[in-house]
Amino acid sequence: MSFKIITGDITKCDATAIVNAANTSLLGGGGVDGAIHRAAGPELLGECRMLHGCKTGQAKMTKGYNLKAKYIIHTPGPVWNGGEHGEREMLESCYKNCLELAVKHDIHDIAFPSISTGIYRFPVDEAAKIAVRTIHRYPKLDVTMVCFDERTRKAYEDAEAAFNRGELQ
Ligand code: ADP
Repeated sequence: MSFKIITGDITKCDATAIVNAANTSLLGGGGVDGAIHRAAGPELLGECRMLHGCKTGQAKMTKGYNLKAKYIIHTPGPVWNGGEHGEREMLESCYKNCLELAVKHDIHDIAFPSISTGIYRFPVDEAAKIAVRTIHRYPKLDVTMVCFDERTRKAYEDAEAAFNRGELQ
């Protein structure tokens, strides 16, 4: 396994599959979702329409169209609403279901954005711990966390360091 944490734009990533922090309509939105739809081109929206949405914490796959990535795995993260509404479990489920889809389709390398920590306001330090802990349950996959800013990257690096100290089991 390799697990990398980088700063960058996930639409430029050459992993076999990239993950989209989508919304439940799967019809595009702001943030990374908008960027992925713009970069992939309008055919992506056509395929997404045929999926009839996706529940929070679940994941659905499409082709990557104009992206370098062959596939896009769309997962709607939870909106942070104080933490007492199952937000942590739903975020874990996002990572788990994306990684399971990759395994099922024989995809060996996958890149994630920081799901839910933008418009959906999930606290990034806590989100990073959930992400890192879940990703390490899939030791056969090459996983890259593509962070859009340094603050986010630091959160994932700190979570990875905590995992390596045995603090996140
Ligand atoms: P959510 O609605 O799940 O919170 P957002 O897209 O608002 O999704 O934010 C999730 C994370 O993705 C944030 O850290 C945001 O800065 C980041 N982001 C936005 N655009 C990109 C991009 N092109 N590549 C990687 N990350 C991005």
